[in-house]
Amino acid sequence: MHKVSPVRAFSDNYIWLLEAEDAPRALVVDPGDATPVLEVLERRHLELVAILVTHHHADHVGGVQRLVEVTGARVFGPVGERLPVECAKVSGGQRLKLDRLGLTFEVLDVPGHTSGHIAYHSPGMLFCADTLFSAGCGRLFEGTAEQMLDSLDALAALPPETRVYCAHEYTLSNLRFARAVDPANIRLAQWSEEAEALRQQDLPTLPTTLGLELQVNPFLRVRSPAVRQAAESHVGCALQTATDVFAAVRAWKDGFR
Ligand code: ZN
Ligand code: FE
Repeated sequence: MHKVSPVRAFSDNYIWLLEAEDAPRALVVDPGDATPVLEVLERRHLELVAILVTHHHADHVGGVQRLVEVTGARVFGPVGERLPVECAKVSGGQRLKLDRLGLTFEVLDVPGHTSGHIAYHSPGMLFCADTLFSAGCGRLFEGTAEQMLDSLDALAALPPETRVYCAHEYTLSNLRFARAVDPANIRLAQWSEEAEALRQQDLPTLPTTLGLELQVNPFLRVRSPAVRQAAESHVGCALQTATDVFAAVRAWKDGFR
């Protein structure tokens, strides 16, 4: 199994660093800042050979240019977004074969947070950046609720044991909201306790797994009676479709303190 470790950046970003199994080579996903990545590469004597970018936000691309200058790594990014750096464009359905890392990724189109957001999936691991978080999902900056729900449905259809490498440590605040939506969910209460304990030791709560998220994440559970009822009582009317429930829960979270 490939070793994947978080490189912390800014206040709550994780830049995921994946190491090849048979050589001191690595890739990073969404390096918003080059400095902490260069430190880790030097400390572990790793050659950076690839950079995967999921969307155009500065906290995900800010370090790409410098990393390319220093390491010569190849950059891959979404065809549907304008990035401040040159890269090979990839899009949903495409297979990205990285021979120097012994890995192939399947690219998924996951619009919603931004209109061209993509995710990278390889058996057992998913790099989904700001689309899916533990117990939460990305804000709808450019896409619609319908697009985001379709994107989350596509991710949720991957095998449940898939490890989910999200780009932010938002888990505790997401869990606070999730418990307000779904207070009778026992698995959610358990995960909240486990996540609190991890954060008290300053450990990441990520990666999560799709199997866990299917049980605790209100945005993956908009078809469950509990989440539907909570959304309906929050907005004060019946909600017809899963998209309506999703939109109501997303708007509820946007104003949740
Ligand atoms: Zn973002
Ligand atoms: Fe972000």
